[in-house]
Amino acid sequence: MTKLTVCAPLAIEARAVRRGLAGTAEQSGTAEQSGTAEPIAAQVVRAGYGPVRAAATAARLQAAGPPEALAVAGVGGGAADGLRTGDIVVATQASYRDVTVSCPSAPLLAGELRRAGLRVRLGPVQTVDRLLKPGDLSTVAAGGAVAVDMESAPLLAAAAGGPAVVIRAISDTREHSVLSPHIVTGGIAALRSLRLAAPVLARWAAACQPRRIVLASPRSFCAGVERAIEIVDRALELHGAPVYVRKQIVHNSVVVAELADKGAIFVDELREVPDGATVVFSAHGVSPEVRQEADRRGLRPIDATCPLVAKVHVEARRFAAEGYLVALIGHAGHEEVEGTLGEAPEAMALVQTSADVAGLRPADPGKVAYLMQTTLSADEASVMVDALTDRFPAARGPGSDDICYATTNRQLAVKAIAEQCDIVLVAGSANSSNSRRLVETAERAGTPAYLVDGPEDIELGWLAGASAIGITAGASAPPAVVSQITAALAGLGQLDITERTVVAESVQFGLPKEVRKI
Ligand code: SF4
Repeated sequence: MTKLTVCAPLAIEARAVRRGLAGTAEQSGTAEQSGTAEPIAAQVVRAGYGPVRAAATAARLQAAGPPEALAVAGVGGGAADGLRTGDIVVATQASYRDVTVSCPSAPLLAGELRRAGLRVRLGPVQTVDRLLKPGDLSTVAAGGAVAVDMESAPLLAAAAGGPAVVIRAISDTREHSVLSPHIVTGGIAALRSLRLAAPVLARWAAACQPRRIVLASPRSFCAGVERAIEIVDRALELHGAPVYVRKQIVHNSVVVAELADKGAIFVDELREVPDGATVVFSAHGVSPEVRQEADRRGLRPIDATCPLVAKVHVEARRFAAEGYLVALIGHAGHEEVEGTLGEAPEAMALVQTSADVAGLRPADPGKVAYLMQTTLSADEASVMVDALTDRFPAARGPGSDDICYATTNRQLAVKAIAEQCDIVLVAGSANSSNSRRLVETAERAGTPAYLVDGPEDIELGWLAGASAIGITAGASAPPAVVSQITAALAGLGQLDITERTVVAESVQFGLPKEVRKI
């Protein structure tokens, strides 16, 4: 059971927090916290106004033994553009004079507050000695701070390096200063947000504990994804922005956002690309029809199709040329599947279920072949292969596995860690097939698993009571996301991090000639 200590500077702020906690935890007592695995005890401490009183409160709390989970909660001034009264700022760090204290679990709390329906901004908070005028707020914002207050940084000292967060509900902004009549309505909005945020602080505290982290290896980028990203980077260097990319270059929102920042423009169809422009085909491949359209339009295509997807395309053409009906085991609507089916549309059929296999009507039952989407789960694919070979005993498969090395290795690795962990977090986007298969693989091993694009997607309820957490990442998810997740979890308590390696990878693919010059 983790005890939550909330430091609220003013009586009115402490009252708002107490009201919010009522029903989830009794102040200075213990109550069953709905939605968490553990009961939680909470106390709300009125910390006093200003940095001097805050420092004294922190010293008193520390002398009594640092709080198990410390939350600083109060109203604050919004320094950054776009903040409105009632918004909640979650501090990534709080600074006062030459002291800065980090709050690593801030992204976890920010995500949970958003899911609770609050408007949330994540960023640095500056503690100051006096109330600031709008002009002073602009100066603070220029220094990078999102909000100002008069207590947070000194109060964080009470945590002595243990779990700590800061939330500030915005009561005044650069447009509506603390000295204007708007402060009344702004204060009411801020106190309401503070009350709504209080139960989320209880959930945050319930997730605080020391824990073991087991990293799956291999995880994250595969050779095909690294190659595709490098192709776009090099195309931007060679041709300058913008460079058009048909579909997401790989299925990951972080990768796409970073490349878009550099000048890549992602389009769904070639008709959105101006005549004569450079366009990159994504790692998932395209059908011959798309290549022909690019030629017709005079576009300058650069093909980032993964060589292992291209291999499946070659197999599709070969089987079709030999008169086979080619059953493609895969998921409808996935770009890779659409590209592969486009290689020989008249000779191919997508099979997703045993019913699809039963529905196949080959001209010659002795001439059926099957291929696979590269990112399937091995277990799922083998069920379909059994159904096909049961019905067509002479069915021919690919020369070598279509499910690629990266998919296979990441599934083996997640299975190995799932057996040792209470939950598994899979870094990856919702449209990433191989990331979703990792979730399913962990779940088949009996461990709850969750797909997250980053730390803000992690629900605190998943973490409550989880003392061993496995982490992996889909082949399209950047390694940095795993680092961000472990850094955020470290803000909930000490971590013991180990890595479980099931196989070492050394695969690399060459670049296409169009971008090899630099
Ligand atoms: S997951 Fe496999 S097929 Fe897809 S890009 Fe990576 S290596 Fe290529």
